[in-house]
Amino acid sequence: MRRAYRFEFEKGGLKYTCPQCGKARLVRYVDTATGEQVADHAGRCDREDSCGYHLRPSEFFRLTGKRPCRVTMPTYRQKRPTPEPSFIDVAVMRASLARYEQNNFCRWLCGVLGEERAFELTALYRIGTSKHWAGSSVFWQIDRANRVRGGKVMLYDVATGRRVKEPFAHVHWVHRLMKIEPYHLRQCFFGEHLLCLDTLKPVAVVESEKTALVASGFIPEFIWMATAGKQNLNKEKLTSLQGRRVKLFPDLGAFERWQSLSRGVAGVSVSDVLERRATDADRAAGLDLVCTFKLRAMGVFYANPG
Ligand SMILES: [Zn+2]
Repeated sequence: MRRAYRFEFEKGGLKYTCPQCGKARLVRYVDTATGEQVADHAGRCDREDSCGYHLRPSEFFRLTGKRPCRVTMPTYRQKRPTPEPSFIDVAVMRASLARYEQNNFCRWLCGVLGEERAFELTALYRIGTSKHWAGSSVFWQIDRANRVRGGKVMLYDVATGRRVKEPFAHVHWVHRLMKIEPYHLRQCFFGEHLLCLDTLKPVAVVESEKTALVASGFIPEFIWMATAGKQNLNKEKLTSLQGRRVKLFPDLGAFERWQSLSRGVAGVSVSDVLERRATDADRAAGLDLVCTFKLRAMGVFYANPG
């Protein structure tokens, strides 16, 4: 059962001009009792890190003195049962573990870690090569039972190691490319299958797959896993790590959310090393530079724990 809320974000993916940053990234609130939008500027900008605009309906009504119409809301609404996760055939995953000379990410990783270590980690994390875009890679999400929950196809620039985001974000999912329907994508951590290989090693959680790989190369004292997306960390996933020593390394801007998620989960702590050390230039440079910066910062952290 899930609480029925009077106001919810509008569904359907429509984005409006944000009153703060001027980009078309505002998701508006809808009054579920009337189906109407609350106001043009009542909503949340999805540029969480760079803009952060959020005007809640309660705040809107407080500021304007307006009142929503009176209705009796049902207290609870039946929650749709969560479907069982779908899996990709392991043979499909295995077939992708080849053609690394055409894999931009792995070629870039060789330059960062040296060929031997890069290939070792590529094999450990089972990074595949995709034909979808020339040079693209598959980041498989394999769970603790060695089942393949999904494969995220991404294209990186071979020289800079940055994601190719122009003229569009080069991200796709294997099940969609293979047109497997219906497919219930239930993401696990990227690198989750490594938990069973060493049950004593402490676990470190970062946001991006790339950071997990590079960090494994430099700081092998941890099992590095990635949430594979800012919003992908939740209480359920963290609770599943109970019994392990876990350190979360949030990207800039995610510290508070990750910290509140970790509250009450035994063994999980959050590193604020990035938040403390970040300069305005680091913040302005955005996420891809953060990876490099993070390693420098974590190196310091690791030399002086606590
Ligand atoms: Zn904005």
